[in-house]
Amino acid sequence: MNAFADGVLTPLEQISVYVHIPFCTTRCRYCDFYTETGRSARVIARTLQRIVEEADAFSAALGRPTVVTVYIGGGTPSVIPAAELEPFLGSLRTALRIEHPPAEWTFEANPETITADRLDALSRSGVDRLSIGIQTFDDTALELLGRRARADVIRRAIRLVSERWRGDVTVDLMTGLPGQTAAGVLRDVEEVVQMRPAHVSIYSLTVEERTPLARMVASGEITLPDADQRDALWFTADAALRRAGYDAYEVSNYARDGKIAVHNTRYWEMKPYLGLGPGGVGTLPIAASGDEPHGSRSGHGIVAVRLTNPNLARYTSTTAGERSSATELITAQTLFFEHFLTGLRTSRGVSIANLRSVFGIEPGVLIETLRNEWRAFPDLVQRGLTAESPFLAFTPRARLFLNSHISGLDDILQKVPLGRVTIT
Ligand code: SF4
Repeated sequence: MNAFADGVLTPLEQISVYVHIPFCTTRCRYCDFYTETGRSARVIARTLQRIVEEADAFSAALGRPTVVTVYIGGGTPSVIPAAELEPFLGSLRTALRIEHPPAEWTFEANPETITADRLDALSRSGVDRLSIGIQTFDDTALELLGRRARADVIRRAIRLVSERWRGDVTVDLMTGLPGQTAAGVLRDVEEVVQMRPAHVSIYSLTVEERTPLARMVASGEITLPDADQRDALWFTADAALRRAGYDAYEVSNYARDGKIAVHNTRYWEMKPYLGLGPGGVGTLPIAASGDEPHGSRSGHGIVAVRLTNPNLARYTSTTAGERSSATELITAQTLFFEHFLTGLRTSRGVSIANLRSVFGIEPGVLIETLRNEWRAFPDLVQRGLTAESPFLAFTPRARLFLNSHISGLDDILQKVPLGRVTIT
């Protein structure tokens, strides 16, 4: 499908934008993201230029929507040289017609690339949220994971950010690391909390297929904590963050003073978002075709398109207005299932009003179907759950074991009739 063909994309009033910068200095052993290492300054500059062209083409095709949030991730966006950051971000603002500061503009950085020049360029460009990939302060684990920074470099970056950065900070930490103990997790959380970031994300290390980590685990070169130990380490981090005053508003995300991630929240609320850059994934509503799509399971048509382009050579050689590579057509039923799952990950839960307005669902039918068919139903917050309840939410403990509760949910949700789908 050519997303730019007349009438494919639906004009939008508001949008979120994700920009994927697919460059890292070296590859971490556990990583299965789309990223490239060892690329020249010329290739990086050409990629940034294409991202700006692509931003302009999509913005035009979508009717110049207001950009509500911007998230620049990767990869390691902070490998962009300091001198190129401001021109790139300025051009992106122009291409996307960002006239006023978005509600949130996040930029990911790894500690070894955090410099005064880069922080100043980000501030001047309107970025107001810095996402720092710390993972741990344990040098042995950092080495085994293939991370570039060691604890001394991370601490230097934190000091610099404390002195110079006026925006918000969010920090990524990891549990389930080789050799990690509960005491080690506590040390990591306590050190992070001392810098009072607005937001913390915790991820449990997963072994992705075909990564160096997978081979090292298979050969016995690296031993990871078993499943029970991994759960215990994760709960240690969870409890420490709660004690420090962070609200666990989503399975992996903690915020203080209500500073939840606006950009991610818009994903979870099924708001449309544009993905730019090689490997950037976006989901956009499309004009109804009226045709029953191949592979549709629900009797409902295609309602959205998911676009990505994880091929640097192809990405940099296409011209403005072209979009090559992977296009996935999304049915209403698939979106409904995704929306339901992501909602269950949040403390607030799945918004019944949103289900009604986006998917045309009758709340009473949904609740009866879940009550009759879903064995996890008793784990939902039981406060007189009715069709008028605003949210369907798991109890905090059930939320932490989400995966064990959702098997078969896809089939159950297919029994819920959908109405007209409206994604705005
Ligand atoms: S820095 Fe992030 S994107 Fe880059 S290799 Fe490591 S985990 Fe992957």
